Amino acid sequence: MEQKGLLIVISGFSGAGKGTLVKELVDRYGYSLSISCTTREPRPGEVDGVDYHFKTKEEFERLIDYNGFIEYAQYVENYYGTPRKFVEEEMAAGHNVILEIEVQGAINIKKQYPDAVTMFITAPSAEILKSRLYGRGSEDEATIDKRMKRAITEADSMPVYEYIVVNDDLDECVDQVQSIIIAEGSKSKYKESFINEIKDELSNM
Ligand code: 5GP
Repeated sequence: MEQKGLLIVISGFSGAGKGTLVKELVDRYGYSLSISCTTREPRPGEVDGVDYHFKTKEEFERLIDYNGFIEYAQYVENYYGTPRKFVEEEMAAGHNVILEIEVQGAINIKKQYPDAVTMFITAPSAEILKSRLYGRGSEDEATIDKRMKRAITEADSMPVYEYIVVNDDLDECVDQVQSIIIAEGSKSKYKESFINEIKDELSNM
């Protein structure tokens, strides 16, 4: 198979630091980040078109009808979905694309794109996870409670992922994820044209 872009799926507990990790991967290595659509309210500081495409329920459901998502899911009473056009175009252009999505979405993507690289990001412990959620200060106690309960279910899905990455120190976590991406992209199945080229060169020497 010829190398297109890799589809890199990053999931993890709410509060595991996925957002910061993904931002670092984009800044340091220039990966293409898919911006999801959601029906949830913007948090303070979030910008439409940068953090998410914020949609009404009606707008979101229309996009579902038009086959506008490669996957979508409901999470804590809101819709979240990955826009089809951006992902397909970026991959076709040979760019590595990052999706930061929840478990149902990751399972769905893996069915459609078996070569997608799936990683689950976790805090070192449940205690640290909870304190990071409180530290964020953007959600009320009831929402944090829902997210912690959801984490219990999400933990059941951890074995579905190919890689589990513990985010204790951000730099180490970024390095670990980058190593995984390099290893995946080095698989011989993506190197067919390179192999053929070097074979040609060798036989013409
Ligand atoms: P948050 O509200 O904290 O930004 O996101 C809640 C959850 O939705 C996170 O686990 C996040 O990874 C997930 N999420 C964000 N965008 C998408 C998406 O397009 N599809 C799916 N399935 N999950 C998403």
